[in-house]
Amino acid sequence: MSIEDNIRKVIPYVPGEQPKDKVIKLNTNECPYPPSPRVFEALKDMDWERLRLYPDPLMSELIESIAGYYGVKTTEVFAGVGSDDVLSMCFLTFFAGDRPVLFPDITYSFYDVWADVYRIPYETKKLDEDFMIKAEDYYAANGGVVIANPNAPTGIGESLDLIKDILDHNRDSVVIVDEAYIDFGADSALPLISEYDNLIVVRTMSKSRAMAGMRIGYCFGNEKLIKYLNDVKYSVNSYTLNIPSIVAGKAAMEDREYFETIVSRIVKTREKTAKALADSGFEFFFSDTNFLFVKPPEQCPASYLFEKLREKGIYVRYFNKDRIKDRLRITIGTDEEMDALTDALKEITG
Ligand SMILES: *Cc1c(COP(=O)(O)O)cnc(C)c1O
Repeated sequence: MSIEDNIRKVIPYVPGEQPKDKVIKLNTNECPYPPSPRVFEALKDMDWERLRLYPDPLMSELIESIAGYYGVKTTEVFAGVGSDDVLSMCFLTFFAGDRPVLFPDITYSFYDVWADVYRIPYETKKLDEDFMIKAEDYYAANGGVVIANPNAPTGIGESLDLIKDILDHNRDSVVIVDEAYIDFGADSALPLISEYDNLIVVRTMSKSRAMAGMRIGYCFGNEKLIKYLNDVKYSVNSYTLNIPSIVAGKAAMEDREYFETIVSRIVKTREKTAKALADSGFEFFFSDTNFLFVKPPEQCPASYLFEKLREKGIYVRYFNKDRIKDRLRITIGTDEEMDALTDALKEITG
């Protein structure tokens, strides 16, 4: 017997690099534009002496603005420190049974880490050769289902019919739909929360609302599921979001116009970049997200391109993983950044 035997050991999730020097950063799907000007105003106007107090454990200001924006009840909303925190709480709350939780083999690489750290049994289901989900894979008895829609790192959005099909076949387990990228394409499952008492829809302010550094995520579900989530949250840490995050999150939520402007700008840049990359012989599926998952031309392996781009100060993401090691995930930045990327790619691939 040793100390080692009593330690919870896990192989951690590896986030994309956050380099200190100035580079063109297309590796972690952040927004290339700043948060809404209303965020800066709200933080400036904030009573900073309030920091001596604990934040509101209910996060009422934020929850009310989220509920108001999406037209749901406040009791149908849960918030956390980024959607990573929300997802982690969902795993802890909803996946406490003995049956395996199901998710695709190629998806957000944090799901298996949470399953491991919480000792949740899980099974992965293979996406088809076009990286699409086969609904039948999720008909099997299970302890829960997790689907990222649009999926990451593929960028592919699935139809709402497929999501409904999976929900219909899993009335006895919770189905989490991670909609981190939904604002850039695909149809949201949010309207289904009143119809399905087994559905949780997870969102984040990190990508489409340009607030990755603030760490704000939230999810929707019927009142009963949200109550169970809050019970677990209050049993782990009552004060998750800090006061500035609550203030900034509310301000970001309320600026619909700015949000719509930056999202449509990113989508426009994505289509322009897609065209340029297709012309240079890159292959990829249609993206519903703020990134492209590309397969470089034959003579230029993805790992080599990854290194060469890095030498030029352009960071993209490479996953040295079965089925996807021949691809690069490239975040959509500004038009200027994407021009620099396509120029660099032309130089490298000759
Ligand atoms: C980025 C991302 C998240 C986590 O985002 P947070 O910054 O923690 O809100 C969750 N799921 C997917 C699929 C993501 O790409």
